[in-house]
Amino acid sequence: MTDQDLTRETRDSAIQRLVDSTQPGRELDVLVIGGGITGAGIALDAATRGLDTVVVEAQDWAAGSSSRASKLIHGGLRYLQMLDFKLVHEALTERDLLLNNVAPHLVRPLPFLYPLRHHVWERAFVGAGIALYDFLATVTTKTAKGNGKGKRSVPWHRHLSRKQLAARFPGLAHDAAVGAIEYWDANVDDARYVVSVVLTAHAHGAHAASRTQVVEITKNDEGAVNGAVLIDLETGTTFPVRAKAVINSTGVWTGETQALAHGSGGLNVLASKGIHIVVPRERISGEAGLILQTSKSVLFVIPWSRYWVIGTTDTPWKENLLNPAATADDIDYVISEANAVLANPIDRSDVIGTWAGLRPLLQPGTMEGTNSAQVSREHTVASPIPGLTIIAGGKFTTYRVMAKDAVDFAIGKAAAKANPSTTASVALLGADGLDNARENTRALSERFGWSDQMIDHLLHRYGANISEIAAIADADPTLSQPLAEASAYLRAEIVYAITHEGALHLEDLMVRRTRMNYEYVNEAMAVVPEVAEIAAKLLGWNEQTTAHEVAVYHQMADAVAAASLTRDDESASTVREAAPQIVPLATPAAREAGHHKQP
Ligand SMILES: Cc1cc2nc3c(=O)[nH]c(=O)nc-3n(C[C@H](O)[C@H](O)[C@H](O)COP(=O)(O)OP(=O)(O)OC[C@H]3O[C@@H](n4cnc5c(N)ncnc54)[C@H](O)[C@@H]3O)c2cc1C
Repeated sequence: MTDQDLTRETRDSAIQRLVDSTQPGRELDVLVIGGGITGAGIALDAATRGLDTVVVEAQDWAAGSSSRASKLIHGGLRYLQMLDFKLVHEALTERDLLLNNVAPHLVRPLPFLYPLRHHVWERAFVGAGIALYDFLATVTTKTAKGNGKGKRSVPWHRHLSRKQLAARFPGLAHDAAVGAIEYWDANVDDARYVVSVVLTAHAHGAHAASRTQVVEITKNDEGAVNGAVLIDLETGTTFPVRAKAVINSTGVWTGETQALAHGSGGLNVLASKGIHIVVPRERISGEAGLILQTSKSVLFVIPWSRYWVIGTTDTPWKENLLNPAATADDIDYVISEANAVLANPIDRSDVIGTWAGLRPLLQPGTMEGTNSAQVSREHTVASPIPGLTIIAGGKFTTYRVMAKDAVDFAIGKAAAKANPSTTASVALLGADGLDNARENTRALSERFGWSDQMIDHLLHRYGANISEIAAIADADPTLSQPLAEASAYLRAEIVYAITHEGALHLEDLMVRRTRMNYEYVNEAMAVVPEVAEIAAKLLGWNEQTTAHEVAVYHQMADAVAAASLTRDDESASTVREAAPQIVPLATPAAREAGHHKQP
């Protein structure tokens, strides 16, 4: 372990730093609420400006929307239809920056096919749009600061005839298209990306505490926000924190969090549900992703390691924000939209997993009395009370810009000018040394018998830090082996998630550090004992704790499966909510009864 790792011990230090913040002269510069991509990005931005920063997350890192996206790092072709060139340009700039400099191991280029149904006019119309998309990326590549290399990060688009399309995507029905345009975007494992940003922020001096919930935002006598009251959910201890700036980056929880300040004003964010289904790769024959126009929006068919990910939907969600669930109707909709173009239709028996997420949709305008900056059409930064900054909206791809805008706003114009954001040139851990690591993989294959596929998997997930996985495998050769029931992952990866990436519970390991919960749905139950056994040793679980972790995971998996058989959101949510949480959030009643004891 190094200073850069996230562990239970570094979490303890973060809690201690929070507690110490009430001591004279020890107040934090920035307290970040929310450990999704936005909060993680803010922590990195603030820490790299030298600000004394702590980020807290009520659940596990990325447990909210940021582990449940379509996982595309993209400019957003559909914004071109709305003629929003600035937005597309900004997102393409970010796409290329992440691909080239910030996280070339985690973010990878991905080809997409846009099937055409009409010969002439559609080819001309869509072709012009995609050419513009590529052009905007080229403008980016030439002018963006920090991108540096001055080269395109993805190939130019190309037109495909019907015959070329059939060769590239044999699984497409013959009458589904007369040809296609192939263009490039990128994708990422979103939860992994968030953990990497938190790790990088930590390496730059930020403290980070997961399973730590803000239950009140406090004010001084003048009415300005001066800190918060937090609960360490692992111990139940409640304690106050002092900070010069508090930043609320809680996505769909924005309203709930701003209400903790007991003031008026703020941002209005609504939740829109999107679901995805996971289908085995061999079920659909194709070498690229598909982007399909539907009557409601677009549907993506995305190649993802050994699977296809197909989604998404876009429906208002009015139930509990914690556990959005896919219903049978959602799944049927996605299947039927995909089947509209597939040569061999898929059905429910092909669906090996699903997930549902909530988009934080920012409503226009701000609540009365709120000082705000509409910095982008997609996201807004606001301050309803001095000392409290709120950021909401946006998308995963543009998190770095959102983080910069939030910190600029929180510290004020003059300080932001004197101490500007540097994250355009801050590589995430694992990015530096990637080329070297790639060159040395042969030795690893020979030493551990890892296949090319395994090496690719490890490079993609850890970049240059593949050497740390190798060190774990060297220390205990049994850890160099794949998990018996989930051979895509090594036993060493479970160790690494605990000793380096802050995993505290079985759910963290199954759902976010790996994706075994939906990649290996049937086998997941079989793999659980092996994962739990590795975790128990490292986290000091006794038999009873291990049995509890396993039981809660099973109940969660059963509830997700049961919810997917219901027809409406209310029933799905009721079924899903019946499963216990491994670390329950503080309810309003629990907050009132808080022990207020110091750890
Ligand atoms: C279906 C779907 C598909 C998407 N696809 C894409 C895509 O392909 N590309 C793209 O760029 N974007 C995509 N997005 C958008 C993107 O995922 C979100 O914009 C982004 O993840 C939001 O991140 P966030 O950090 O703001 O919110 P979240 O990830 O939800 O993080 C907020 C965090 O705050 C925590 N929290 C809440 N209250 C408290 C409290 N009191 N104390 C401490 N912590 C608290 C929550 O536990 C949560 O983890 C998609 C979204 C969805 C739902």
